[in-house]
Amino acid sequence: LDPEAFSGESRAVVNFLAEYYRDVDKYPVRAAELEPGLLRKVLPEAAPENGAPLEDVLEDVRREILPGLTHWQSPSFFAYFPMNASTAGFAGEMLSAGLNVVPFVWAASPAAAELECVVVDWMGKLLGLPQSLLFSGGGGGVLQGSTCEAVVCTLAAARDRALARLGHENIMRLVVYASDQTHVTFQKGARLVGIPPSNFRVIQTSAASGYGLTADAVRAAVDRDVARGLVPLYLCATVGTTGLGAVDPVRELGEEARRRGMWLHVDAAYAGSAAICPEFQDHLDGVELADSVSMNPHKWFLTNMDCCCLWVASPRALTSALSTDPEYLRNVGTGGGGTEEPAAVDYKDWQIPLSHRFRAIKLWVVLRRYGAVGLRAHIRQHVTAAKWFERAVTVDERFEVVVPRKFSLVCFRLWARFPEDDAVDDLNRELLAAVNESGQAFMTHFVVDGKFVIRLAVGGAMTEMKHVMDVWELLQGKAEEVLRRHQI
Ligand code: PLP
Repeated sequence: LDPEAFSGESRAVVNFLAEYYRDVDKYPVRAAELEPGLLRKVLPEAAPENGAPLEDVLEDVRREILPGLTHWQSPSFFAYFPMNASTAGFAGEMLSAGLNVVPFVWAASPAAAELECVVVDWMGKLLGLPQSLLFSGGGGGVLQGSTCEAVVCTLAAARDRALARLGHENIMRLVVYASDQTHVTFQKGARLVGIPPSNFRVIQTSAASGYGLTADAVRAAVDRDVARGLVPLYLCATVGTTGLGAVDPVRELGEEARRRGMWLHVDAAYAGSAAICPEFQDHLDGVELADSVSMNPHKWFLTNMDCCCLWVASPRALTSALSTDPEYLRNVGTGGGGTEEPAAVDYKDWQIPLSHRFRAIKLWVVLRRYGAVGLRAHIRQHVTAAKWFERAVTVDERFEVVVPRKFSLVCFRLWARFPEDDAVDDLNRELLAAVNESGQAFMTHFVVDGKFVIRLAVGGAMTEMKHVMDVWELLQGKAEEVLRRHQI
């Protein structure tokens, strides 16, 4: 690693990216319909024997790779949930990648481990989490790569806590509860930690509760299981579901979880970012009843991939399930292996892998550069734009909002007075395809109560009100064409 070459080549990459960001709205947002295997045809069959200059490599990126990408950083990307990139997020990622330290145990990079402890406490305070989930109050947090990994860790912790009481042979009796709106990662996680698939309860929600999970429904499911000799283990409450942005009532579910001795996890992957604004903190009411909470700064918090905050009320429960203690990793911060608390945090015991990225410096740079005020402004401008869009949809009688908006996700559909829902679904499929094929915007869909729904997720780092206004104009134009084609 020659510092001179490093400086020159890094600048070239930064300039390449600056040009990309300048032009990103000129690319079709979603990758054009390309044939699978296209890249294999243009790239050599094996890695090159000799290295090439960076400019040749960047030219290949420009020519071969960029045309096949979906441009997640386009201001007209409204699909899934956006994944934020930002100047500060990138600067933080550069520091993380450049320093490339690995704080898997405290002594392996003390300031990196300690910065992580500080940053997760800062984040918890910004979200209005209780002291009990912060290091300063006996809990604590970790930065992982994704909610999926975080969920597996919490499921393992809940499982081991229950089996320590029941005996390992009872693993087949443990039951996990979620709703039909819960992210599928909980099913995958439950399977990974050995919960039988038949013991994963998907509880139905309805429009009446805004697609939130009710405590009554959980109680009924738990009663049925307990009567059959099963043991309630884990309940997931989501604040901001993936499909619709629905919110489960955390307090109600937390009280039910406490009564039944279940672990409560609050998944706020997307909407957790909004909780830095006081007007959204009510959605986390009751979070002090949670055993664990997670949110993804890489979604809507100006933090480049990857970064997921996980907080736990009992670090001991997590580390009992995940810790390993080989001699070659023992260090001055390592606890005695008994019940005493370790003097410093060994993050290897808070996650699945051993190695640990220095994500803390990235999130720290984001927090330092924007401050809470800047980050709240980022959230609020998207919420304002989503509100504008929701209103525009509401007043156009050809459209309907399917579920009231809570954050920056609007779920809507083109609505025509057809007797059969199938026909309306087909119109909406056609409309969504027409918008996405135009290359001017990209949105995705969801199905709720059998209805095909179009989702507009506002949240891109470069997305402003004008982009939302443009996509509405585009939708109206495409809707006219679709309706005309069907003579409606
Ligand atoms: N939970 C919710 C509510 C989500 O919306 C998502 C992704 O969109 C996830 C979990 C999964 O997140 P990750 O990709 O970080 O595992």
